[in-house]
Amino acid sequence: MAVTTPKSDATAAPPTSYRAAVVPSFGAPLNIEEVPARALEPGQIRVKVEASGLCHTDIHAAHGDWPVKPSPPFVPGHEGVGTVVELAAGVSELALGDRVAMPWLGYACGTCDHCVSGWETLCLEQKNMGYSIDGGFGEYATAYARYVVKVPDGIDPFDAAPLTCAGVTTYKAVKVAGTRSSDLVAVFGVGGLGHLAIQYAAIAGGRVIAVDLIDEKLELAKELGAEFTVNAAEEDPVAAIQALGGADQAISLAVSPKAFEQAYGTLRRGGKLVFVALPADNYITLPIFETVLQGITIIGSIVGTRTDLREVFELHAAGKTHVTREVRPLDTVNESIVDVEAGRVTARIVFSL
Ligand code: NAD
Ligand code: ZN
Ligand code: ZN
Repeated sequence: MAVTTPKSDATAAPPTSYRAAVVPSFGAPLNIEEVPARALEPGQIRVKVEASGLCHTDIHAAHGDWPVKPSPPFVPGHEGVGTVVELAAGVSELALGDRVAMPWLGYACGTCDHCVSGWETLCLEQKNMGYSIDGGFGEYATAYARYVVKVPDGIDPFDAAPLTCAGVTTYKAVKVAGTRSSDLVAVFGVGGLGHLAIQYAAIAGGRVIAVDLIDEKLELAKELGAEFTVNAAEEDPVAAIQALGGADQAISLAVSPKAFEQAYGTLRRGGKLVFVALPADNYITLPIFETVLQGITIIGSIVGTRTDLREVFELHAAGKTHVTREVRPLDTVNESIVDVEAGRVTARIVFSL
C-alpha cells in the first residue's frame, strides 16, 4: 500500500517563514525579508538551501527585461542547491536528506510532445524557478520532486550551484552546436556561462577561441582551456577569428546584441551560431543573402534537460570541469548584481544561505 502521509525532517519542524531576497518591483533593489513558507502542493518538496548561484538571468528577471515577465514580489534564483527537508504526501522519488539542485525548469507537464520526446525545456506548461515559482535566493525553497536533480555525493554544493544553470545551459549549447574534434569554437562572453562553455567545448574536442571585453576574463579562459583569446574592446573579433579560418561554431553568451552580430561574422561556411544570452535589447540585424549562400545555421538554445544536468554533474564528479566561483552572503545581493553588470566578477557569485 502506498504511503500517503507527508514526511518532514524529524530534527526540524517545517518552517513557517524564512529569510529570502525579494524583488519588490522591477528595477528596485532587492529586499532581504521574512517571507511566509507555503504548504507543499502535491508532488512538491521543501529544500533547505545551502548554496545559490547568481545568474545574469536573475538580473534580467529583477529588471523585467524580457517580453514574458515574472510578477513581483518574487524570489529569484535557479541555481539553488540544498537538502530535502519535507516531502508532500505520495512523493517517492526522493528521500529526506537528499541533496538536490533546483534548476530553471522547475516543472513541465511530462505528457506533451516536447516532454515525451526529450525536449521538456520546450514544454508550454513549464514553470520556472526564480521566475514563476519562488527560487533559490532564500533559506528554503519549494520545488517539484520530479524536476529537481540529485547532486552526487562528493560534489561541493558551491560547485553544484553554477552547474545547475551555467553548466547545464552551456553543456546543452555545445551539444546542439554539434562540436566535434578539431572544430574551431568561438565562445562570446566569459562570464558564469562562458567559463563553463569553454570547458564543454574542449571536452567535445573543440579548439576554443574566447572573446570578452575584460582581460582578466580572458586570462581565466586560457587557464580553463581556451587556445586563443580576443579582447573585443581592442581588436575586431570577426577579423581575428576569420584570420584563423573562421569558427565552425559560435556560442553567444555575451549580454550584447552587437556581440551576436560579431559572433555571426566569425563563422566559416557551413558554420553554426547558437543563441544563448538574452539581452534586454531583443533584436539584431543579420543578412539573408550571406546566411543562405554560406549555409549558416542559427539555433536558439534554452537551458538543458534533467538528463543534461545529470551528465554535467557526472563530468564534474569525474574531475573533468572546474567551477570558478566566489562565495558571498545573501545580504550582498544588490552589490553582487552591480558587480556582475560591471564585469567585476571572475565568473560566478554563489550565495551562502
Ligand atoms: P555574465 O554577466 O556572467 O557574463 C557575460 C559575459 O559577457 C561577461 O564576462 C562580459 O564581460 C561579457 N561581455 C559583455 N559584452 C560583451 C561583448 N560585447 N563582447 C564580448 N563579451 C562581452 O552572464 P551569464 O550569467 O553568463 O549569462 C549570460 C547571458 O545568458 C544572460 O543574458 C543570461 O540571461 C543568459 N542565459 C541564457 C540561458 C539560456 O538557457 N538560453 C541560460 C542562462 C543564462
Ligand atoms: Zn510538456
Ligand atoms: Zn541561469
